[in-house]
Amino acid sequence: MHGWTSGDRKINNIIKNFQRNATKYEEVIEWIPSEKLINLKKIREESEIIIFTATWVDGIRTINKISNEKYEKSRSEQCGVILILYGTKKINFVIKEFKKHMQQKKNSVYGISKDMETNHYIIVTQDESMRRASNGKCTNCDRYNTSLVWCQLCDPWRETQGWTNENKVIDVLIKGFQINATGYENVIEWIPFDELSNIIDIQNIKKELNNERSHLETKELDLVSRATWKKGIRTVKCESGNYKRSRTASYVNLMELQKKKIDKNDQGNIEYME
Ligand SMILES: [Zn+2]
Repeated sequence: MHGWTSGDRKINNIIKNFQRNATKYEEVIEWIPSEKLINLKKIREESEIIIFTATWVDGIRTINKISNEKYEKSRSEQCGVILILYGTKKINFVIKEFKKHMQQKKNSVYGISKDMETNHYIIVTQDESMRRASNGKCTNCDRYNTSLVWCQLCDPWRETQGWTNENKVIDVLIKGFQINATGYENVIEWIPFDELSNIIDIQNIKKELNNERSHLETKELDLVSRATWKKGIRTVKCESGNYKRSRTASYVNLMELQKKKIDKNDQGNIEYME
């Protein structure tokens, strides 16, 4: 690993440290000069980062099998990558983020680069390898989706946007689940109370149901009623060979979460969909 420098001693050291500790050719992270990253397309801005999709000209490290006993180090053809550009010159922050990425998603970080105009550092990570035409196209990044009607780069983040229930604790809780969602149909959402109709009090059958679920931790939850959720559960529809996102009005159970468990000052009720 000779003949490169990031221009910053700390960044050089962190890359070299990971390189020294690498145990496989394919897992080596590297300094990626910015000219090796082309076709940059801005996807979104978050508080301290900007996300781009790009093409990495060198391609990822692979091992080719030449014969039964012989293997050789190689590179894939140029490939799609995701760039996380840190809009800060605080090197320590970038290093902290980089280490976090390495811990969370080992083998998905290819290296570090730098925007030569702004001197902002960039973490180069794997794009989802599962992009397929049959999953349809993502309307946000214009790439094929990573699963049916779902883009893992864009959709978890998009789910967290444009809604609030005005209780910070609950917002953070739901958004935490949304950012980790892996498919359209299993996203948890905030359901405004006016999306629920035909609410029926079921106190009388409550006991029975609680007995049925005695194996679950239901102590914090009180099943109080049933309702129709007009907007309805998320489904995937197939229309003339194309898959589409859809909703189906559905019956739901409502449980009341004890207020003191959420936030002493919270006055609202929380609806849980079953
Ligand atoms: Zn996308």
